[in-house]
Amino acid sequence: MEREELWKSVLSELEIQISRPNFLTWLKSSRLTDIKDDIAVVSLPNYFTKEWVENKYNKLIISTLKGINYSIKRVDYVVESAPKPVSFPKEQETKVLEKQLLLQETKIDPETNLNPKYTLDSFVVGSFNELAFSAAEAVIKNIGTKYNPLFIYGGVGLGKTHLIQGIGNEIKSLYKNKVKIKYVTSEKFTNEVIWAIRNRRIEDVKSVYRSVDVLLIDDIQFIGGKEKTEEEFFYTFNSLYENNKQIIISSDRPPKSLPVLEERLRSRFEGGMIADITYPEYEARVAIIKTKIQEKELELEQKIIELIAKRAQRNIREIEGILNKIIFYQSTKEKVLSTEELGKIVAEMTDRGAINISPNQVIKSVADFFEILPNDLTGRSRSKELVEPRQIAIFLLRDMLDMSFPYIASKVGKRDHSTAIYAYKKINNDLTKNPNLHQKVMMIKELVNKAE
Ligand code: ADP
Ligand code: MG
Repeated sequence: MEREELWKSVLSELEIQISRPNFLTWLKSSRLTDIKDDIAVVSLPNYFTKEWVENKYNKLIISTLKGINYSIKRVDYVVESAPKPVSFPKEQETKVLEKQLLLQETKIDPETNLNPKYTLDSFVVGSFNELAFSAAEAVIKNIGTKYNPLFIYGGVGLGKTHLIQGIGNEIKSLYKNKVKIKYVTSEKFTNEVIWAIRNRRIEDVKSVYRSVDVLLIDDIQFIGGKEKTEEEFFYTFNSLYENNKQIIISSDRPPKSLPVLEERLRSRFEGGMIADITYPEYEARVAIIKTKIQEKELELEQKIIELIAKRAQRNIREIEGILNKIIFYQSTKEKVLSTEELGKIVAEMTDRGAINISPNQVIKSVADFFEILPNDLTGRSRSKELVEPRQIAIFLLRDMLDMSFPYIASKVGKRDHSTAIYAYKKINNDLTKNPNLHQKVMMIKELVNKAE
């Protein structure tokens, strides 16, 4: 059977077995991209969907697949493409943005490839990235000896490039020329290796990369699958590692989820320190906006700051985009924008975000996630199983929609508003300590954002 056909019949069976909203949200856009021996490769549109499907539906998918093609024993899930940018700038804006980009790029140090704009001073630290940040600090103090390699992973626009470039810039300013640093994206590395092979210059590339003290390699997920490049990288890695040189890697997923990567590289990555960067919570988003507007010398009233924090939930790049847009409009209008105008810009740029979300959508998504009924959440039952779903619903109504506690309390379980405050604080606090809870909350958020 053809791959496509096979997947179609798998999907039609899955459709019967799980609820319609869940099917539409999680599986509809999946594709079977490859079958290698007994492994089926299923691609999903983003990291959250992948995690979700892997955690919740893997067993079901395997058994369904096996029913049709019993040689299949395992499924590997991959992310197909990065999310598209928030909005496409109009022509005039493009020019301004291009100019800004050009200005930034001309400042890049050709020796290290570091962009001085990425400093650790301008890097906001919160519970969502504090593990990665403290690992970074430790590495700066103990180059090559403490955590090697340091592997940082997280979704798009959450600060991986900023952090690893920031480490490079910090080391550069602390150790001056005593430490040789190089930053490279895995794509650039790949291109260099391919070019070098073609032009018989591979020794040059080798000597460049093996002479550094700190190698920063960004977006390692793109290195996989190209045999020669992976091999070259593997030898470079080993050579640096054996000489106690520091290697810092960023990736959009943890080593174990880098499916195309050779096992020997994966196990090397797992031998050092692995730290993730997750999504910033509301308070962290406010802090980020405040830092950014200070840097950009933009003045915004608290109300607008809070509006942006509420609406910009996708990632930090989205926040940056909104602020840049405001600056752009401000400069073309030559006057300070009114609160309404600002609100409109924010709404336009986040129209897939919180603006369209209703409290019922949040409640329904939480219920769907825990496979209970929305009425269970809003009802008065004191059943134990409802404690966590209710607390999460309360947390999200506050975090995503900024609803008042008395309102939330009346909506969820008809409680006193102090119960709602307690629940909000509890989840907010536990999120930083409990990765499992964090994962759940992030997945539910994704469900809310996707709900129609
Ligand atoms: P990634 O490499 O993970 O896709 P970036 O490092 O490019 O993300 O970050 C996207 C944008 O958000 C950049 O403009 C970056 O400066 C900003 N940013 C990310 N994390 C932080 C942070 N913790 N503090 C301040 N700015 C941040
Ligand atoms: Mg990046």
